Amino acid sequence: SQRVKIRQVLQDERTNYEVTVKGWVRTFRNNQFIALNDGSTNNNLQVVVQEAEMDPATFKRITRGAAISVTGEIIPSLGKGQRVELKTASLEILGDCDAEAYPIQPQKQSLEFMREIAHLRFRTNTFGAVFRTRHSLAFAVHQFFHQKGFVYLHTPIITASDAEGAGEMFRVTTLDMKNPPRNEAGEIDYKEDFFGKSTNLTVSGQLEGELGAMAFGDIYTFGPTFRAENSNTARHLAEFWMIEPEMAFYELKDNMDLAEEFIKYVIKFALDNNREDLEFLAQRLADEEKQKPQAERSDMGLIEKLEFVLNNEFERITYTEAIEILRNSKPNKNKKFTYPVDAWGTDLQSEHERYLVEKHFKKPVILTDYPAAIKSFYMKQNEDGKTVRAMDILFPGIGEIVGGSQREESYDKLVARMNELGIPVEELYWYLDTRRFGTAPHSGFGLGFERLVLFVTGMTNIRDVIPFPRTPKSAEF
Ligand code: ATP
Ligand code: MG
Ligand code: MG
Ligand code: MG
Repeated sequence: SQRVKIRQVLQDERTNYEVTVKGWVRTFRNNQFIALNDGSTNNNLQVVVQEAEMDPATFKRITRGAAISVTGEIIPSLGKGQRVELKTASLEILGDCDAEAYPIQPQKQSLEFMREIAHLRFRTNTFGAVFRTRHSLAFAVHQFFHQKGFVYLHTPIITASDAEGAGEMFRVTTLDMKNPPRNEAGEIDYKEDFFGKSTNLTVSGQLEGELGAMAFGDIYTFGPTFRAENSNTARHLAEFWMIEPEMAFYELKDNMDLAEEFIKYVIKFALDNNREDLEFLAQRLADEEKQKPQAERSDMGLIEKLEFVLNNEFERITYTEAIEILRNSKPNKNKKFTYPVDAWGTDLQSEHERYLVEKHFKKPVILTDYPAAIKSFYMKQNEDGKTVRAMDILFPGIGEIVGGSQREESYDKLVARMNELGIPVEELYWYLDTRRFGTAPHSGFGLGFERLVLFVTGMTNIRDVIPFPRTPKSAEF
C-alpha cells in the first residue's frame, strides 16, 4: 500500500487510523520501541513492537540503520516525548543493516567525521535539517522571481568567456593534453578541440544574463558555477550555486533594494516552512556556544538572528566611508588589523568586512562605489573617474554574500575600459552588441547560494551546506 510520510503522520490531529510507513531505524530501545525516520522530518515516529507477536527471525533483524516497512494503527502515546505512536500490525524488513559496521552512531558525531562519511551523513538530524532547509530556500528563490515576473534563463555551463577575468576557470577539452595538437608558434591549437576553440566551465552567468535582461526586462539564472579556487577556506567551493538576477532599467539603488527584499523573502520563507528544522539547528548551535568562553558567545540565537535580519534595514555605505571607519578603528587587543588599511584603493580583506558587519554596524552592510581598479570591467563608471557603481552585501559570520553592480551601458566607455585592461573586444562582440543596439541602464547581482544557506542554518563550514562538496584535492564521488 501507499506509504505515508512521517511528517504528515505527526502533523495529523487524528488518532486511531491505519497507516503504512517506511523508513530507517534510528534506535531500537528495550526490544520494544523503534524510533523510525524517513527523512521527511527530524522527529522520529515511535513504532511499538511486541516480540511475542512477531516472527522471531524478523524480530532479530530490527537493527539500527535497517530499512523497514510498518503497517499498523496510529494511537495516542502514553509515553513521554510524543503525542502518537504506531502500534505494529505487520513489519517487514526491506534492507538489513549491520549496526556494528554502520558508521552513523546514535550519539553526536563531529562534523569533520561526517565529512569523511559524506555519503551517509544525510541520515543524521543535523544534515537532514540543513538539506531540507536548503531545498526550501532554492524553492523560495524561484517563487520570489516568478512572482515578480522574472524569466528563468538557463545560461550555459560550458562557455568560451571568463566573466570575472580572474582566471579561476576549469578548462573543458577533448584534446589529448599529453600530446596536444600545436600551431606553428608551438601553442596548443584549440581549433582542433571539440568546439573549435578553448572553452571552460562557467564562473558566472552574468554576461549571458545581460543578453536576456536586454530583451525580457528581468531575468535570473540559478545554476552551478565553477571556480578553480586554489585555497581551502570555509567560504569557497570549486562548484557552487549562484543566483544571478539581471534587470533592465534598474539603477544601483533599485538593484540594492531588490537584493535586500530578495534575501529577506527567502529567509522568511525558510522560517515559515522549516521552523522545526531551524529550531533544531538553533539548539545545536546553542549547545556549541555553551562550550565557548563567555566572552566569545554570541548574544543572539539562530532564530533571533534571522528575525533580526528580517526586521532591520541593511546599512548602506560607500567604500570610501568604509575605509574611513576602518582607519579610525581599533579592532582588537592589538588595535590593528593584520592587513592595515592605509591606502584608499586596496581591496578589503575578510577581517575588514567582518569588522564592519559584526563589530561596527552589527547588521548586514551594503558597500557601494568601489575603486574601479579592484572591480570587473563591466561595472558602470562613476563621474569621479575613480569608482564604479558596485555593491557588495556583507553578512555577519559570513562576509561577502552578494556581489553586484549597475552595468556600464555606454558602448564607448565599455570598449575603452576593455582596451585598458587588455580584454579582447572582438571575442565579446556579442556582449557589446547590447550596447550597440538599444542600450539602456541595467543592473544585476550574484548571490552565492551556499553562503545564504550557511547564514540561515547557522553552519560554519561551506562543505556542510552542499550535498556533494568539491574543494581542492577533494571530490569523493
Ligand atoms: P570572494 O571575495 O568571497 O572570493 P568573489 O568576490 O570572488 O567572492 P563574486 O565574483 O562577486 O565573488 O561572485 C558573487 C558571489 O558568489 C559572491 O558574493 C559569493 O557569495 C559567491 N561566491 C563566489 N565565489 C564562491 C566560491 N568559490 N564558493 C562559494 N560561493 C562563492
Ligand atoms: Mg573570489
Ligand atoms: Mg569578493
Ligand atoms: Mg564579489
